[in-house]
Amino acid sequence: MSFKDLGLNKPILRAVAEAGYDNPTLVQEKTIPLVLDKKDIIVSAQTGTGKTAAFALPILQLLFDFQDAPKKGKKIKALIISPTRELAIQIQHNFKTYGTHTNLRSTVIYGGTSIEPQIDVLKKGVDILIATPGRLLDLHKQDIVNLDYVETLVLDEADLMLDMGFIDDVKKIERLCTKEKQVLLFSATIPFKVEQLANTILNNPERIEVSTNSSTSKNINQVLYYVPKRNKIELCLHLLRNSIKGSILIFRRTKYGVDKLEQTLISNGYKAESIHGDKAQNMRQEALKKFKNGYVNILIATDVAARGIDIDELDAVINFDLPSVPETYVHRIGRTARAGKSGTAYSFCSADEKRYIKTIEQLIQLQLNVIDEHPYPLDPKAKAIIHKSKKTGSKHRKGRKSEASKKKKKRWY
Ligand code: AMP
Repeated sequence: MSFKDLGLNKPILRAVAEAGYDNPTLVQEKTIPLVLDKKDIIVSAQTGTGKTAAFALPILQLLFDFQDAPKKGKKIKALIISPTRELAIQIQHNFKTYGTHTNLRSTVIYGGTSIEPQIDVLKKGVDILIATPGRLLDLHKQDIVNLDYVETLVLDEADLMLDMGFIDDVKKIERLCTKEKQVLLFSATIPFKVEQLANTILNNPERIEVSTNSSTSKNINQVLYYVPKRNKIELCLHLLRNSIKGSILIFRRTKYGVDKLEQTLISNGYKAESIHGDKAQNMRQEALKKFKNGYVNILIATDVAARGIDIDELDAVINFDLPSVPETYVHRIGRTARAGKSGTAYSFCSADEKRYIKTIEQLIQLQLNVIDEHPYPLDPKAKAIIHKSKKTGSKHRKGRKSEASKKKKKRWY
């Protein structure tokens, strides 16, 4: 099938050709006709499948007839909600690319950065708005954003949106738009809570599933190192010195872990950058830019900070800490060996993480290739050390957190 067969108009086809896309991806083939048909849809697709173009192209087409409205008279007709700032910026970039031969205007608003420039652009009038939930509600409250004319609402990475606690914000945003709008929900996985949200805000949706969550590319060489927790950094340095080359994405579970590893790698002469939720937005953008343009070859990230971000040409992914959720493993390693290329996924497993291996192997239906030949082997008898709190009782019991800390809703990712 070609893009032309999907009924897209000339200016969009031209932009798609200029972007170097020959044919639509599977998710685009299935999604574009339904969006053009004004249907509500639930799409389960991960980053890398081409899902952004799957909603951006038909939205641009649907709005094409309104493109010549005078700037100030432009109303927000399409609203795209993203859980993270980086993803929001990336989506906006795609709209700009695909809409380059139209007069449609799009902009992106997100928190952690000055609000005034965003207000200025909004006041001039836009057709398409990409936003993170908090900043959108803030600007709506200030009467800068009017959602009365939204015809298409997209919720991207819905599962992450709910994991990050945005459920109430999302529902509020949905209610602020017109009742008649079309809703497109995209999610890497469709857990029960996403299903519940879909039931409340989508109208008779069609479902599209492009890949099972358990699929990993055949081109990814997946290797596993059993290593004591205290030696993980040494193992990482050893592998970087001897075998892992090229552009490398390293996942750690916590922000603290990300920072610590970054410092160690830099002090050992490596060019590394990091992204996580505690870093200022401009620092995160800067880090991503340096990684994408090759100024540094190592990026260290938490799962949430890296979610949805399109990073091409990765040679290796390192699971420095193993994820407790097996699907996360699949998401992480799916970032290498894209588009027919090959790549390697390295996983470091300490005694307390052994229990995750079984569930990961069950999901991917493959046994990971264990590498025994390395300088820091884990004693096979090593048991997980479970740190028990001296105090008894539930950690959720009342009074564990001060009121001040409860109010200060810190990002955990
Ligand atoms: P996404 O899943 O939206 O993050 O897209 C992943 C990558 O695929 C992006 O770099 C897109 O530019 C690229 N892409 C999207 N659609 C196509 C297509 N039809 N052909 C080739 N590349 C594409």
